[in-house]
Amino acid sequence: MAEENKKKSAPDDMPDWSAYRGVMIFIEQRAGSAKSVSWQLLGEGRKLADKLEVDLIALVIGHGTEQLTKDAIAYGADRVYVADAPELKDYRTRPYSRVALHVIREVKPEIVLFGATATGRDLAGAIATHLPTGLTADCTILDVEPHPSRLLLASRPAFSEKMLATILCKQYRPQMATARAGVFEALPYDAARGGEVHAIPSLMDEAEIEAQVLQFIEATERFDIEEADVIVAGGRGLGGPEPFKLLQELADALGGVVGASRAAVDAGWIKHAHQVGQTGYTVRPKLYIAVGISGAVQHVVGMQNSDCIIAINRDKDAPIFKVANYAIIGDLFKIVPALTAAVKAKRS
Ligand code: FAD
Repeated sequence: MAEENKKKSAPDDMPDWSAYRGVMIFIEQRAGSAKSVSWQLLGEGRKLADKLEVDLIALVIGHGTEQLTKDAIAYGADRVYVADAPELKDYRTRPYSRVALHVIREVKPEIVLFGATATGRDLAGAIATHLPTGLTADCTILDVEPHPSRLLLASRPAFSEKMLATILCKQYRPQMATARAGVFEALPYDAARGGEVHAIPSLMDEAEIEAQVLQFIEATERFDIEEADVIVAGGRGLGGPEPFKLLQELADALGGVVGASRAAVDAGWIKHAHQVGQTGYTVRPKLYIAVGISGAVQHVVGMQNSDCIIAINRDKDAPIFKVANYAIIGDLFKIVPALTAAVKAKRS
């Protein structure tokens, strides 16, 4: 630690960080299933690693991690460091951060990325308090300067989301960031890819861990818009909270969830957990249906990476049509029930 602190007060020129090489991604899991942001970060990490000509490294922590390890390689990792033990089954800050710190100190990656989820934010913050380095939170754009600076260019909205700030960590390594889900694209799954697997010990006995996970209680209204494959989103054009029931029916028929524009959320028609956009969630579903949403830039940044976008709007010049794959011009109160009926008829 003394050595690390000494480096912290280094002068403002670039120290020699040549011992640090590689891009590391924390693979977040719950009950053995990875959060999709982990695969998205491997996709983006692959681009950064290729630009820097280094390995893409995955860090897997959990119990029963065999499939996650295979998946990490299939999604682009060259090397996987795996800590697998019963006491690591559920996320807890101390045992996870101890393993992560050990791996980071041993492997010395120049960049470490986490999903900007509750777990990713907690773990990255805990690690950053022990390592003499910075942490850029909630990034939406990642890039690197090539050799010799090899700097991570971590960009995120700033000043009430009115500006995009690019944050550099010139003096310390590793460079760390959390990144929003839904912004980056996972690589296609390639089961034929090969990679190295390194086993890491758990480092803490159950008896040493103060926090105990007694039970997971799912919220009554389980809702995770970032993981949804289909989103039917409504805006001010709905005119009130009631018509969201029409959207829910269509979403149910398609096996999806309901999203919303900020105008609908600000009007109190639906909770903020449903808001898509710059100050809401960034989503990347297979299908996004925008209903009565004009297509303001702050909304579009949150959904433009959807695989297929259908927009329903009575204004043929609505900007949402510029990002839509299919445009349905007309009254949503006629179109949405007709679509629901058609989907149900096809399914029955
Ligand atoms: P409107 O722009 O009012 O559009 C309503 C649309 O409904 C119109 O196009 C109209 O033609 C159509 N319509 C009306 N009636 C019907 C009908 N019967 N049938 C079919 N179509 C109909 N917005 C977000 O969504 N998410 C964000 O995260 C977000 N963050 C922001 C952050 C900042 C810093 C700022 C300044 C703004 C942010 N906004 C955000 C707000 C954004 O600028 C827009 O005000 C908002 O997206 C507009 O919502 P809307 O499209 O639902 O409403």
